[in-house]
Amino acid sequence: MKKPILGSHVGMSKSNKHGKYLIGSVKEALSYEANTLMFYTGAPQNSVRTATDKLYIEEFNQLLKENNINKDHIVVHAPYIINISNPVNQTTWDFGVDFLKQEIKRCEDIGVKILVLHPGARLKGDYTDALNALVKGLNAVASSQTNVIIALETMAGKGTEVGLSLNDFKYVIDNVNEPEKVAVCLDTCHMHDAGYDFNNWELIKEEINKTIGKDKVLCFHLNDSKNPLLAHKDRHENIGYGYIGFDNLLKVLWDEEYIDIPKILETPYVEDKPPYKEEIENLINKNFSKKVK
Ligand code: FE
Ligand code: FE
Ligand code: ZN
Repeated sequence: MKKPILGSHVGMSKSNKHGKYLIGSVKEALSYEANTLMFYTGAPQNSVRTATDKLYIEEFNQLLKENNINKDHIVVHAPYIINISNPVNQTTWDFGVDFLKQEIKRCEDIGVKILVLHPGARLKGDYTDALNALVKGLNAVASSQTNVIIALETMAGKGTEVGLSLNDFKYVIDNVNEPEKVAVCLDTCHMHDAGYDFNNWELIKEEINKTIGKDKVLCFHLNDSKNPLLAHKDRHENIGYGYIGFDNLLKVLWDEEYIDIPKILETPYVEDKPPYKEEIENLINKNFSKKVK
């Protein structure tokens, strides 16, 4: 039986206690006994970015090699400030497109292929206009020249978010000019909050196959949820402490059809401490024995 590809969100900054920039990212992941990782190229809420030649890319590559981490499993998360679904504010849309182009370039420099992007929010626009704005934005950034694939993340439906349903992603992929450069990241907390019931993972899988197809799933965000089905809240819970539950998350993690797809924990810190080492241990041992709170 193959082992899952499991890691967490990690830091990537000058002041990470594990090391500077990308060195710290890998060392932090190793401290959790993870075999993959996800990072932001800077703070998720702002557009300040350090030039990639200052990020220690060579040392990063060396560390990955020494520790048998496959670079193709590493994920970059684009910042939340990008909103290319909004059909009403042109300045915001332009900023998002521009920032996303730079973010793709940074991923190319670092050598990471999976770039997770929140589809965005429609604000006062209508839902279909928002999906069309997203298609237009993706057309403006996606190029056949790049190795980077944008993985649109499934959303919980907080506020006016779009991308709550797998049909939305089918629509977007069917309508973009470079469908091979657009894929999906399934966030279990968000899907649950949007109404996908992980008590019936087989049914969700069928729906994936009927809409985007299994090959469009490039990564998972493996999170429990603080709220019941269809709550549209987007509050992540530690693995096994929420409404999705340990056994349902195990089913996703260990599903043979998705065993080679990276799974990333974005569960909350507990009393300022990351829970990832214990959560990974529990999930790999299939035993909810290490308490994180
Ligand atoms: Fe996200
Ligand atoms: Fe997520
Ligand atoms: Zn979330």
